Amino acid sequence: MKILIAEEAGFCFGVKRAMKMTERVVAQGCGEGAKVYTFGPLIHNPQVIDRLKTKGVAVADEVDDIESGTVIVRTHGLAPQRMEELRQHVDKVIDATCPYVTKSQSYASQLGKEGYHVLIVGDQNHPEIKGVIGFVNDNYTVIKTVEEADELKFHPKLGVIAQTTFNVGKFNTILSKLSDKANEIRIFNTICDDTFVRQRSAAGLARQADIMIIVGGRNSANTNKLVEICKSIQPRTYHIEEVREIEDIDFQDVQSVGITTGASTPDWIIADVVERLKNLPTHSAVT
Ligand code: SF4
Repeated sequence: MKILIAEEAGFCFGVKRAMKMTERVVAQGCGEGAKVYTFGPLIHNPQVIDRLKTKGVAVADEVDDIESGTVIVRTHGLAPQRMEELRQHVDKVIDATCPYVTKSQSYASQLGKEGYHVLIVGDQNHPEIKGVIGFVNDNYTVIKTVEEADELKFHPKLGVIAQTTFNVGKFNTILSKLSDKANEIRIFNTICDDTFVRQRSAAGLARQADIMIIVGGRNSANTNKLVEICKSIQPRTYHIEEVREIEDIDFQDVQSVGITTGASTPDWIIADVVERLKNLPTHSAVT
């Protein structure tokens, strides 16, 4: 069985940056009796969060969970009001918001100030979108499906942005539905470069492989989008979070297996997956 690994797999740029910032804080320490926290899990990968815990990094879900120390704001960013609340409450805040998310926040703010109704294409329950909403006034709508785009009310001025990890193809379809929804439409394509390239390389691999394995947290939005894209091309697509889940996959008649990962999956988990696949009864090469 041939094992094919997507060119774009492993941590994305924003996650690598956030991990480095966190490791630096851990190495420096933050004083007697003080602790290092991340505000929410740093990334959507339980194994990495467990490793960080062993290094003394605690997860705080609310400001009141924090006693004293340094708090790291994760890649998803925060609404400005929430960031201010955090700065008032703790000794030090390290802002690891991904620069792509920062850009999206600033477009949302700009569109709001210029009188556009801000259309945010993404998941309203995702922390990134909750943060972005804080940069606009009440003049916004969040949608994530083509049907919701069809039902959108008319607004004289419509400004559109996307969740940085949104499905590129679906975003384009949603955009194609908007022409009669406003007199003026301004679009900022805020899907990050990493997402774009990762989705494209996953789709390419799904066309070649007999089976696709997507490795990543079940609560990871970008991983779930990869699963959605690959499944639409290769029905034998499996989403696993832990290596042992490979045992549940039926490899009958499989000549080639494609592997890709969400943006929060570290290289060591990919190596574990490859190792486990190599130990299945048949395989031939790793590319
Ligand atoms: S997926 Fe894109 S926006 Fe999100 S952290 Fe990674 S590089 Fe940044």
